[in-house]
Amino acid sequence: MYSKENTIALQDSTQSFLKNIPDVLTSKEETEKLRDALRFHEYRYYILNDPFISDGEYDQLFKLLERTEKQHPDWITKDSPTQRVAKELTGNFLTVQHLVPMLSLDNSYNEEDLRDFDRRARQLTGLDSIVYSVEPKFDGGSISLVYENDLLVRGATRGNGVQGDDVTTNIKQIRTIPLSARFSDYGLQQVEIRGEVLMNKENFKKYNEALIEKGLAPLANPRNAAAGTLRIKDPSEVRRRNLEVFVYHISDYTLLPGKDTPKALLSHDASLQLLWELGFRSPVHEMHVFRSIDEVIAYCREFEEKRDSLPYEIDGMVIKVNDIQLQEVLGMTSHHPRWAIAFKFKARQGTSKLLNVEFQVGRTGSITPVAKIDPVYIGGVTVSSISLFNEDVIREKDVRIGDTVLVERAGDVIPYIVKPLTELRSGTERPITFPSHCPACNSTLFKEEGEAAWRCVNIECSAQVVERMIHYVSKDALDIRGLGEANIKKFYELGLLKDIPGIYKLNFAAISQLEGFGAKSVEKLKEAIEQSKKQPLHRLIFALGIRYVGETTAKVLAQKVNHLLELKDLSQEALQTLEDIGPKVAGSIVHFFSNEDNLKMLQELEALGVEMNNVQKQTHGSGELEGVTFLFTGTLPTLKRSEAEAMAEAKGGKILSGVSAKLNYLVVGKDAGSKLDKAQKLGTVKIITEEEFLKMINT
Ligand code: AMP
Ligand code: ZN
Repeated sequence: MYSKENTIALQDSTQSFLKNIPDVLTSKEETEKLRDALRFHEYRYYILNDPFISDGEYDQLFKLLERTEKQHPDWITKDSPTQRVAKELTGNFLTVQHLVPMLSLDNSYNEEDLRDFDRRARQLTGLDSIVYSVEPKFDGGSISLVYENDLLVRGATRGNGVQGDDVTTNIKQIRTIPLSARFSDYGLQQVEIRGEVLMNKENFKKYNEALIEKGLAPLANPRNAAAGTLRIKDPSEVRRRNLEVFVYHISDYTLLPGKDTPKALLSHDASLQLLWELGFRSPVHEMHVFRSIDEVIAYCREFEEKRDSLPYEIDGMVIKVNDIQLQEVLGMTSHHPRWAIAFKFKARQGTSKLLNVEFQVGRTGSITPVAKIDPVYIGGVTVSSISLFNEDVIREKDVRIGDTVLVERAGDVIPYIVKPLTELRSGTERPITFPSHCPACNSTLFKEEGEAAWRCVNIECSAQVVERMIHYVSKDALDIRGLGEANIKKFYELGLLKDIPGIYKLNFAAISQLEGFGAKSVEKLKEAIEQSKKQPLHRLIFALGIRYVGETTAKVLAQKVNHLLELKDLSQEALQTLEDIGPKVAGSIVHFFSNEDNLKMLQELEALGVEMNNVQKQTHGSGELEGVTFLFTGTLPTLKRSEAEAMAEAKGGKILSGVSAKLNYLVVGKDAGSKLDKAQKLGTVKIITEEEFLKMINT
């Protein structure tokens, strides 16, 4: 996409813009130059995953462009990076006709199916052997993109295959899709491209965590998340969800007058390469070309093994006849092309019987219905209980006790019930009735306006007390090993533990009398509890289980204070000025800290030795290494890897997972391996010792 000279020139112009950022640019040419630079950095960031400038620097340049365009609206171009931002949609999406119908793919599930496909293709073409390209089958929402005279003019969903929804505005929020591309260099006037919009696993997880924290039902899987997001009416929400795209097909094109079909459009692999060179994210690195169906099969198997380690979901591979002329010879049915076939990976679905539903009380009192099903083995895991999230989900799906249900489990995603198989009902199935009283303490349940969950509001509700303690000791909170869910429940039932401060007053003599507690395990437990007193402040904040305060918010809050109790002096307004904290979260924090019982508990915890000072902030100061990136490799002479990382982070530094152009410092210890080699090759990474690192931290 960018030649070396081009890269250097663009980086140079970026540096000169950054050196001295004016209020606005004064010429149209300069403005276009700035746009080029911004597009280049978007490409480095979103397509190559290897940025040259920091997010902050990018923002500064972007704002400069915005200011300039505001003053000179006539300078705005349709493909300006600012044109991704758009207003909310009021009406419905327009229906548009695809230039070429978006068909399904024929499916295959085993080697024999693939061999049949190959046999048929050879028969129909009269050839002895056929060259195939093989690439992942991305599991998201399919889209079509139309570029005219190098500009993105339309993005549409698949719809019924013939017509789809015009979602151009939303498509523009996806930063892996270029707003313009130099198709004209290849003699192309209009081009229609197919691709798959995805939400990667990490973003999906984060997104769902946020939903759960807000008391809403999480989305079923990344596929639904991606497809659903495309049809949201608020483009800024689409932007926040960080969708990605892979484009995998040029489905139609027209040539500029006097031009011939470019060579790249004669084979599938070359067309993906062309898209890549034009700045698109196409699966050039994932795709392979093979001359025999045996090799194709082997590659499919190989990829299936890798499935879980990919950052996004795939549900199979797609095998395509590589020669486009041959594709045309083979043609299509009304349903699918004859030149391609999907090889589906093993299903991660199964059916089972819904035996009954239990209602669990969470630490904030929310009642979650959990379906108990006949254990079923899906994708390597036995599933026997599945959350139904809330009453609305039960109603929407109309699941009933005794139903046969379809269960799906995708990748890291928690299993969920897709639907009941209503055809199989015998008439004996019973609707699920939601309780009106708390199953633990029997107090009346309430439901707040705009919330999906029923709640037990009795603070002393035994189930909530236990759940709060379980949360307090959990891995991402204070991480007290040896005091997991089972022991907390046991100690609670035996009267050995009644609240969180009680954790620090445990009667170890009594515990050592219990079955299964030897001297050694009691000693370990003691130690773990002792250690937990010194955990970083953000973990303690998270551990308190304040409603809506997840790990991210806890970190933001910890940054703000030198002592936990300072949080009680922050007003709702002050809290709302913090990153990612809205009125609901702020309200909940104020509510927590204005409760006398909570304050009493915190004072008691402090008296018992739980550290409430922000030790990290005080000893290191913070933010001095803001945005500086580190990676550690080899055995360090004195520090543990995790210690060193925490030290860097406490000062605002960031830990990367691998060596890339993004990395500033590689700290090397004994027996450093490939990371060191790679950093030396790159030449841009500063390689330092632990001693030098410590100096940096301590100055
Ligand atoms: P299906 O909906 O199961 O018939 O599968 C067809 C769909 O697979 C297409 O509409 C595309 O959205 C999707 N798909 C995902 N990855 C690819 C790919 N690499 N090539 C073609 N189609 C793909
Ligand atoms: Zn209760």
